[in-house]
Amino acid sequence: MPQAVAVLGGGIIGLSCAFEAARRGMRVTLIEPGGLGGQASGAAAGMLAPFSENTEQPDDFFQLCLNSLRLYPEWIRAVEELSGMSAEWVQSGSINVVMHEADILPIESRLRWQNEWGAAAQLIDAAQLQRLEPMLSTAAVAGVYTPGESHVYAPKLVSALESACRKLGVEMLEHAGDIEEVQAHPSGGASVRAKALDQPVHADRLVVCAGAWTGAYERWFGLTIPIHPIRGQICSFEHPANEVRHMVFSSQAYWVGKRNDRLVCGASEDVAGFETNVTERGIGRLIRSSSRLFPFLERKETMHRWAGLRPATRDGLPLIGRVEGIGPVILAAGHYRNGILLSPVTAAAVADLLEEKTSVVSLNAFAPNRFSYIEK
Ligand SMILES: Cc1cc2nc3c(=O)[nH]c(=O)nc-3n(C[C@H](O)[C@H](O)[C@H](O)COP(=O)(O)OP(=O)(O)OC[C@H]3O[C@@H](n4cnc5c(N)ncnc54)[C@H](O)[C@@H]3O)c2cc1C
Repeated sequence: MPQAVAVLGGGIIGLSCAFEAARRGMRVTLIEPGGLGGQASGAAAGMLAPFSENTEQPDDFFQLCLNSLRLYPEWIRAVEELSGMSAEWVQSGSINVVMHEADILPIESRLRWQNEWGAAAQLIDAAQLQRLEPMLSTAAVAGVYTPGESHVYAPKLVSALESACRKLGVEMLEHAGDIEEVQAHPSGGASVRAKALDQPVHADRLVVCAGAWTGAYERWFGLTIPIHPIRGQICSFEHPANEVRHMVFSSQAYWVGKRNDRLVCGASEDVAGFETNVTERGIGRLIRSSSRLFPFLERKETMHRWAGLRPATRDGLPLIGRVEGIGPVILAAGHYRNGILLSPVTAAAVADLLEEKTSVVSLNAFAPNRFSYIEK
C-alpha cells in the first residue's frame, strides 16, 4: 500500500478519492487550486439516475453508473456518520414524461432491458401520472416511473465529504493557486508545485481529479487527454415542499424538488470555453419548458441561476485508471453529466488501484491511455 497519496482537484471526485484512500489507511494530501467544490460539483442537480441517463443499452457506462448507485447507501452512511452532516439524500423515484403517443413504442424495449437490471420501472398512463405528480400538465400522455432513482443535495454532499476527509486526517491544501509543475517518476514517487504553496508536495502516488481542467496535465504526462468543458446552465424556483414529488424528466429539461423548498430545473449543454456565466437564452429555455410541463410555474420568477462546467471526453466515457508508462499516476476525470452519481464507484476503483488490488469494477472501457492514437 502506498504511504503517501496526493489528490489533485477538490471537486466531488477528488474529495471522494481522498475520503476512500484515507479510510483505507493511506496518508492523503488534497491540493485544490481554488475553493473545494467550487466548480461543477457545487453546481450539480445531484440526481442519482442511472436508468434515466442510459436509455439505449446496458453498456459498460450504464454498469458503472448502476454499480455506483448500489454503493450509495453505505457511502452516504459513512460520510454522514463521520461528518455529522446530512447530504439530504431523497428517495424520490423518477418520472420520464412522454408528451406524444408515438414516443411510447421505444419505451417498451427500454423497460425490457432495464427491468432485467433491477429498475422495477413501469409505463404509466395519463391518469396514473396525474395521481403520482398532480401538478404536471394534463398534456402529458404517459410516463416511465422508476422508483429506485434518487437525489442528493450536491453542495451538502461536497461539504460533508470535506468534513469527513478532515476528520480522517486528510491534509487539505485549498486555494493552492495554479499547479505550476508536476514531476512523476516512472519508478515511483512524484512531486507537485503550486503557485501559492511555499513547498512542493511529495507523494508516492498522484491521483489527478481536475474535472474540466484535466487536459492541462497533457504536458507533464505526455498523454493525450481530450477533456473539454460543457457548460450547464441551471436555475431554481421557490417551491413549497412536495409540490413536485419525483425527479421529473422531459426531452427538454429536468426538475428536482429539494428539501429547502427549491425546485431545481436544469440544464443547458453549451460550449462556452471555461465561462461560467448564465445567459438569457440558456435560462429562458428552461423557464419556457417549466411553464409547459408545470403550469403552476408560469410567470414565476427564478430564485437563483447558476452554471457549471461538465468535464466531457471525446467518447463520453470517464477516464479512470493508471496512466501507462508513468507508474505513480492515476487519472479520475471526465465524468461529464454523472460525476455525483459516479463518485462512490470511482473512489472505490481508485483506492483499489492504489492498493494494487483487483478493482471492484472492470475499468477497461475507461483506460486513460485509450486516446493515444490522437496527435497532440
Ligand atoms: C448544471 C449541472 C448539473 C449537473 N447535474 C448532475 C446530476 O444531477 N447528477 C450527477 O451525477 N452529475 C451532475 N452533473 C455533473 C457533475 O457535476 C460532474 O460530473 C462532477 O461534478 C465532476 O466532478 P469533478 O470533481 O471531476 O469536477 P469539478 O467539480 O469541476 O472539480 C474539479 C476541481 O479541479 C480543480 N482544478 C482546476 N484546475 C486544476 C488543476 N490544474 N489541477 C488540479 N485541480 C484543478 C477545480 O478548481 C475544481 O475544484 C451536473 C453538472 C452540471 C454543470
